[in-house]
Amino acid sequence: MRSRSGFAAVAAACIALLLPAAAHAQQVTGLEVRQGDGFATLTWQPVAGATDYQIERTPAGAPLGTGVVVGVWRPNRQVNPNQPAFADAGFNPGDSFQWRVRARIGATPQAYSEPVSGATLPEFGDPATPGENLRTQWEQTNAATYTSDVNEYAYTAALDAASERVRVVEIGRTVLGRPINMFIIGYPAPKPTARAISNSPTALLNCNVHGNEPSSREGCLILARELAFGNDARTIDLLRNMTVLIVPTINGDGRAANIRGNSTGQDLNRDHSLLRQPETFALAAMVRDYTPEVAYDGHEFGNSQAGDLPTLWPRHLNVARSVMGESKSLVEDWLYTNGSEDGWWYCPYGCQNGGGVGLSQETILRNTMGLKNTVSMLLEARSSGGPTRPDEAIPANNRRRKTYSAIYTMQQVLDYYRERQRVVERAIRTSILVQRVNATPVVFRGSYDVPAFPAPHPGEAPPPDEPPTGILNPPPCGYLLTEEQYRSQQDGSRPVADRLAAHGIKVRRRGSGWFVPMRQELRGLIPLLLDGQAAEPMVAGQRIAC
Ligand SMILES: [Zn+2]
Repeated sequence: MRSRSGFAAVAAACIALLLPAAAHAQQVTGLEVRQGDGFATLTWQPVAGATDYQIERTPAGAPLGTGVVVGVWRPNRQVNPNQPAFADAGFNPGDSFQWRVRARIGATPQAYSEPVSGATLPEFGDPATPGENLRTQWEQTNAATYTSDVNEYAYTAALDAASERVRVVEIGRTVLGRPINMFIIGYPAPKPTARAISNSPTALLNCNVHGNEPSSREGCLILARELAFGNDARTIDLLRNMTVLIVPTINGDGRAANIRGNSTGQDLNRDHSLLRQPETFALAAMVRDYTPEVAYDGHEFGNSQAGDLPTLWPRHLNVARSVMGESKSLVEDWLYTNGSEDGWWYCPYGCQNGGGVGLSQETILRNTMGLKNTVSMLLEARSSGGPTRPDEAIPANNRRRKTYSAIYTMQQVLDYYRERQRVVERAIRTSILVQRVNATPVVFRGSYDVPAFPAPHPGEAPPPDEPPTGILNPPPCGYLLTEEQYRSQQDGSRPVADRLAAHGIKVRRRGSGWFVPMRQELRGLIPLLLDGQAAEPMVAGQRIAC
């Protein structure tokens, strides 16, 4: 046995010696780099039999071999794994580097490619031009410090003053009295009133609800400057054709304390239906008045095995299929495709054993917005570098990757909306009609399923299904509230009357009480708030059959 296996080894070595061209073919070729906003996309020719690839980055001028592996490319990053691409991020924008890529077959590294080099793009905005030269605290400190509330307000006011395209409004105050600001951005200037904006295409970026997940907030502050001063054809076209609403921080108290909840400990992303807190109340009233067609909600998630950018759409079964489907298309068609081209790894939230997340709670903004007939998604930027981004033990590198990938995602959401404006409008019109007719069943909880894509694929590991509970078929005609119920408060919140009004739910007097008809735009939300059997009702009204 020994001599035979020894012979086989010798034979294999001879074959390798005889076939140097075959060994050479394991080296990555065709490496190219193109620069993005805070990231660099590397692309190369695939190597037959490669298990994965390592991406090495070396400062310009330093000897090759002294750099670090900043990325590990795996086939399930992309919908088109035969055209590998990796978005390197985590460097200081404007610095110059050399990159090399090598395949690994099993655990065995192959030869590195020839290097490519380039200067990365600097932070947006000419340092010599007033307005454009504004920088957040996070940018000024090279990502060492997050932007404080005080710096956010100063930067916001300065941007407002410097750009004709920007108007800043205060939409409410936190429990501790911090202003909740919103950038309203349009070209050449934003439309003058909420009504005018409501009557025209509008996108909403909600940047920070969990105070300890700050990367989308940093991204939003930078993005506001890019939209305020960008003079490229794309930016002008976007802003000629839509209003962009950016709410950097609804949870200013939680951000200042670096905690998930607000100052009372309430998780605000479990309060978007009940509106017990002033922060969620303010956002709901704004949504009622401005009626965005497309909405983004920014988060971070702690699964180090997941993709760079777990995303998800509204799944509650009371969301009209047209709006659910268009939101799903934003993620599965637009983000998976463009992300793959640019080297970003999207996947459905809950992917790679992420646990019981991404379900149907109407308290979560992703779902609430769907119930409000809005095409919607959440982003859950992977909080740690994980095995595919091994150089993120340095906190600034980790923060830059998350922030610039959030900016990329938000820009993609705007591009998607611009491209599909008519389709989105049609999906929303259909949704509103379906809700007003009130003919289809409603449920208290339960999700549209997310079918898995065949592996390897960003969609190979979707979140779990949630079977429907409390099916009302046929749906009720409405709910009757007593005067006392209508005026009642919950945990120190505002009265039910005010919270229904903040959503835009219509009510009418009936006898000594109030009737809430199901035949209205927000039908899907009504039983979740007013049925005593719902999972988290606001008040237990009397269900009225048709
Ligand atoms: Zn979150």
